[in-house]
Amino acid sequence: MNCSETSEEDLAHMFKSFVSEGDTSLIDYMEQYHIDLKKHMVEFGTYEYNYTARGLDIDIDGMTTVKGLFAAGNITGNVRGDISSAAVFGHIDAESAYRYIQTIEEYDVRNHPMIQETLTLYSAIMERQTGAHWKEANSTMQQIMNKYVGTEVRSETLLKSGIKYISDLKKYAHEQLKAENAHELMRCLEVLDMLDVAEASAISAEGRKETRGKCHNRTDYTYTNPLYNNKFQTIEKDNDTIKVAFRDKHR
Ligand SMILES: Cc1cc2nc3c(=O)[nH]c(=O)nc-3n(C[C@H](O)[C@H](O)[C@H](O)COP(=O)(O)OP(=O)(O)OC[C@H]3O[C@@H](n4cnc5c(N)ncnc54)[C@H](O)[C@@H]3O)c2cc1C
Repeated sequence: MNCSETSEEDLAHMFKSFVSEGDTSLIDYMEQYHIDLKKHMVEFGTYEYNYTARGLDIDIDGMTTVKGLFAAGNITGNVRGDISSAAVFGHIDAESAYRYIQTIEEYDVRNHPMIQETLTLYSAIMERQTGAHWKEANSTMQQIMNKYVGTEVRSETLLKSGIKYISDLKKYAHEQLKAENAHELMRCLEVLDMLDVAEASAISAEGRKETRGKCHNRTDYTYTNPLYNNKFQTIEKDNDTIKVAFRDKHR
């Protein structure tokens, strides 16, 4: 960013806008390190907002395909709009969840098989005498994702290998992760969640047999398929079956 010829008035406007945007750390940094934008050029970038447009599929009431689970904001995949959509759907979700809960009978969930299964997993992670640290699983996952599901080059061979390695890592992580305390347990569970997301990303990428945008470059399908324009790719897990499909966008 070269502001050497920017007027004082425009610079003042920019600094005021930094505050409005919540970018006060930029101003602090420039003050602390005596960076004067009139004299010094700085490298300036943006966060990769392209990555936020993926996530849970919600209906008009904010409910996901899991009954009773509502979502809003960046976590959703089929609604854009940043702060506006986060605020509006947050409001809609709260009202929808309130209405939904009226239709559900109260029941004791303590003996639900999923809760029992989860308790067994958490206890195993805490009680193991020997095992793997969450950082091992986390960094291995990052390496697999970068190498096999990367944003620079993708192909069926790379993606299928990646899916196999993620699935192996998931198995090892469930069998071997070990936590010394509650903080490490939280980190372990975070890795297990991320592995699910990594697997979904890899399977979706393998299912998208075309090249699209700047992050999905398939060497085996180098063209963008116009039939996928204005379509959402969906991925759904039903017990152990994972289904990938394309659907029209609702307008
Ligand atoms: C630099 C920047 C500039 C932007 N500028 C604009 C703009 O000008 N206009 C606009 O409309 N949008 C803008 N956005 C996007 C906008 O900020 C987001 O779309 C919006 O804040 C998303 O809201 P959210 O509630 O979904 O998520 P968030 O605001 O990210 O809230 C998620 C919350 O969950 C918490 N959390 C995460 N994990 C856990 C956990 N395990 N347990 C408990 N809590 C957890 C986080 O700490 C966070 O508080 C900008 C974003 C950035 C980063």
